[in-house]
Amino acid sequence: MPYTWSAAPVRKMILSVSQPAVRAWMPLGRHLVDVNALIGKPLRLSWPGMAECQSCGGVFSELHAQGFCRRCFFESPLAGASIVRPELSTAHLGKADRDLDFERAYQLQPHTVYLADSGGIKVGVTRTRQQVTRWLDQGATRAKVLAITENRYEAGLIEVALKAHFSDKTDWRKMLAGLEFDAEFAAAVDRALGAIPSELQRFAVADGTEHRATWSLAPGFAAKSVKLSQPGDVLEGVLIGQRGQYLGFADGRALNVRSHEGLFLSLLC
Ligand SMILES: [Zn+2]
Repeated sequence: MPYTWSAAPVRKMILSVSQPAVRAWMPLGRHLVDVNALIGKPLRLSWPGMAECQSCGGVFSELHAQGFCRRCFFESPLAGASIVRPELSTAHLGKADRDLDFERAYQLQPHTVYLADSGGIKVGVTRTRQQVTRWLDQGATRAKVLAITENRYEAGLIEVALKAHFSDKTDWRKMLAGLEFDAEFAAAVDRALGAIPSELQRFAVADGTEHRATWSLAPGFAAKSVKLSQPGDVLEGVLIGQRGQYLGFADGRALNVRSHEGLFLSLLC
């Protein structure tokens, strides 16, 4: 019997380390779709139109970028400069970017700098209490804590220094292809720890927590990205696995759930 989820705003998948593979749930409105249970089945995902801004909750015919309406994209602290570039944080100086109360709460808390293998070895920053979800969102097989700082600004400074040695971006094609750099990872961690500037070494963690994950999407997946960008767009295909925020289909198409955040998607399976 086909099951239908009527159109509701989609949110990024909730991921949890498990065996034999990471478990993924896709929020659609008030429902949580069990993604792993759909692997091997034909799905029909469609965007009839309309979208909900993830900051103000307003409903619009389209969103401006990153799940925000135009106004929130330019005014909400959720889309502020330090979200993408932690080194631009200013709350520790008592200086506002968009909303000092929000930025104090967000930036003035422990942050983790980590190294991850997500189709390439990359450096990243996340709030320490988000430590596990962030690298999973990027589809990593392995991640190691390099430093824990007191605020977002300090973590941003470490990341900037490490960007001279490592990328801070995930190459989604290589990640979905399942490339792994296991053999180089331990040496990369040593190199990264050594590259933390001396004035920030006090935050370095010599033997940081290491995380590992295996994914339901089999290695060798040659991905073609697909986006539901126009009202009425439909994606039909057999789901063969999931990795990071991507759903992989039998014909090679890959849909980044995160880049659809806020769209009212409907799902038939
Ligand atoms: Zn908005």
